[in-house]
Amino acid sequence: MKEFDLIKYIQKSFQKNNQQKNLLVPIGDDCSVIVPPKKMAQVTTIDSLVEGNHFSSKYFTPREIGRKALRVNLSDLASMGARPPYYAWLVFALPSNFPDASIKGILAGVKEDCRRYNVILAGGNITGSAEFQIHLALSGWVKPQRMLTRSGCRHGDHIFVTGTIGASTLAYQQFKAGKRPYPWLVKRWANPDPKLKIGIFLAENRLATACIDVSDGIFQDLGHIIKASNVGAELNWEALPIFPRLKKLKPIPQMIGFGEDYELLFTVNPGNLKKLKPIRTQITEIGRVTKQGFKVLDSRGEELNATNIGFSHLA
Ligand SMILES: [Mg+2]
Repeated sequence: MKEFDLIKYIQKSFQKNNQQKNLLVPIGDDCSVIVPPKKMAQVTTIDSLVEGNHFSSKYFTPREIGRKALRVNLSDLASMGARPPYYAWLVFALPSNFPDASIKGILAGVKEDCRRYNVILAGGNITGSAEFQIHLALSGWVKPQRMLTRSGCRHGDHIFVTGTIGASTLAYQQFKAGKRPYPWLVKRWANPDPKLKIGIFLAENRLATACIDVSDGIFQDLGHIIKASNVGAELNWEALPIFPRLKKLKPIPQMIGFGEDYELLFTVNPGNLKKLKPIRTQITEIGRVTKQGFKVLDSRGEELNATNIGFSHLA
C-alpha cells in the first residue's frame, strides 16, 4: 500500500472508533485537537516496539503486535492511575516490501484493543524505514491530587505486585539465545494485560504511596521506586507470584527479572491494607519498604544475589 492509501485505510477503519465529541479534529488534519475533561490533568506516555526486542514476527501474529503496541503504553497509564478516554498517536516505520496483509493484521489488533480499552486513535505518522517499528503515544487523565507516582513510599509500607511475573522474561531469553521459546511463554510475552482498573482504584482511593509498572524487571523497577522515594526495600523471594508453569523450572532471580511483565508494583501504608479488599485482580504482598538498601531474602532469611538484574535498552 502507498502512504496515502494506508492513511485512507486507517481513517476509514477507525472512523467509528473516533466518533467522540471531545475529539474536535480527528485523523486527517495536520494535528489532532482534544477538549480535556473538566479539572483533569493530562497523562502522556510513549513507547516503541522494535522487531527482535519487543516482538518477533516469527512468533507473534500481526494482531498480537498491534495489541502489544497499545498495551505496553496502557500499562504505563495504569501505573499513574489514568482514566479514559485514552487518545493514541500511532507511528509506523515500514520497509517498502512490508506485506499489506501484515499491516492490516496489525491495525486490526490496534482496533480491537481500542474498543476493549476505550482508546481513540487521534493521529499518527507513516515513514519509510529499513526495519519495521511501531511507536505509539498515549494519553489519559488524572485528578491532579490523586495521581500515582514513583515517589512517596515510606519505611514500613507493604509492597505488592499484581498478577504473575517471569514468563515474558524467559520467553525473551530463549528467543535471544536463538531457541524457540515455549508457546505458553510466548502467549504471555505477546499478550500483556495492563492493570488499568486496579491502577484507577488505587489512585481514586489514595491507597498506593508509590506505583510503577513492571516493564524492565521487578528488581530494577522496585529500585526505581525506592530511589525516587529515598527509602530501601526487602523482598521475600518465596512470596513472588512467579508464573505457575515457570515455577516447575526452579527459577532464580536472573531467570525472572528482565521485564515485560506489565504488572503493577505498588506500596501501601499498613493502615490502609484492609481497603485493598474490593480488588478482584490477583495481588500478592512481596515485601516491605525499609529505611535504606535493597535485599532479596529466601525462606531462611538468607540474601539472594539480585543486583544488576533488569532490562537496559542501551546495553
Ligand atoms: Mg513504566
